[in-house]
Amino acid sequence: MEFHVLTIFPDFFRGPFEHGVVGRAIASGRIRVQVHDLRRWTSDRHRTVDDRPFGGGEGMVLKPEPIFQAAEEIWPERSPAQRIVLLSAQGRLFDQAKAWEYSRLEGLLLICGRYEGVDERVAEHLADEELSIGDYVLSGGELAAAVIIDAVARLVPGVVGNERSVVSESFTGLGEPEGLLLDCPHYTRPAVFRGWGVPAVLLSGNHAEIRRWRRQAALEKTARLRPDLLGRLRNPAHTGATASIEKELRP
Ligand code: SAM
Repeated sequence: MEFHVLTIFPDFFRGPFEHGVVGRAIASGRIRVQVHDLRRWTSDRHRTVDDRPFGGGEGMVLKPEPIFQAAEEIWPERSPAQRIVLLSAQGRLFDQAKAWEYSRLEGLLLICGRYEGVDERVAEHLADEELSIGDYVLSGGELAAAVIIDAVARLVPGVVGNERSVVSESFTGLGEPEGLLLDCPHYTRPAVFRGWGVPAVLLSGNHAEIRRWRRQAALEKTARLRPDLLGRLRNPAHTGATASIEKELRP
C-alpha cells in the first residue's frame, strides 16, 4: 500500500516512520510513504501556499490551487482504491474500523492543513472525506497524518508478522455479542513485583481457562473504562479476511 502526505513541513516526517513496525514495513516494501512539500506546486517567487480569509477574520487559509495541482499530479487518474483524505478537526472521527477499511486500499493521500485551515473547496470537491483524530485542535495535520499512517500500516496484510495479534486487540477482536471490547490486561515476568502478583490462572498452563479469563477480564476492563464500546457493532471490513483466525481464538 502507498501513502502520500501533502504538507508544508515535510521535515516533520523525519523520524516517525523509521522505527518499529512501520519502519520495517517500509524497509520490506510492504508499504511506501511519500512525503510531498506543498510548496512544490506554487508558482510565485515566495512560494505562497496561504492567503487571507474572505470576509475577514483571524489567520491565514491554505489556498486551493497548489493542493488540487499536487493531488492531480500524484494521481493523474484515480481509482476507487485510492482515497484522498483531508485532515481536519471538523472531520468524522478516525477509529479502528476506518483503519481496517483503509488497510485494504491501494493508496491514501493525506492532506495536512495549517493556520486557520484549508480552503473549503478542497473538502467539497477534492477530498473523499474529512477526518479528525480527536475532539481537540492541533496546530497542523501532520501529527494526525502520522497517527493514521501508523494505525493503517500495521493492518496491511503481512505487516504485523503474527496476524492473530491484530485481530485480537482493542476495538477489533472477539467482542460479539457484547460489542467492541478493549484488549485484556497483559503481564510478564516477574510473577510477583513489589508484592503484586499476576492472576494465578495465567501461570496455570490451562489454555482454555486462560482464554476464558482473558475474555472476562477484557469485558470488565471495557465496562470500567469504555462502557460506550459495549453494544457497538463490529466493523465488517475485516471480518472476511480474518474469520478463520477469530474462530480459532474464540473461547
Ligand atoms: N480553524 C480550524 C477549526 O477550528 O476547526 C482549526 C485549524 S487547525 C489550527 C490547522 C490544521 O490542523 C487543520 O486544517 C487540520 O489539518 C489540522 N488539525 C487540527 N486539529 C485536528 C484534528 N483533531 N484532527 C485532524 N487534523 C487536525
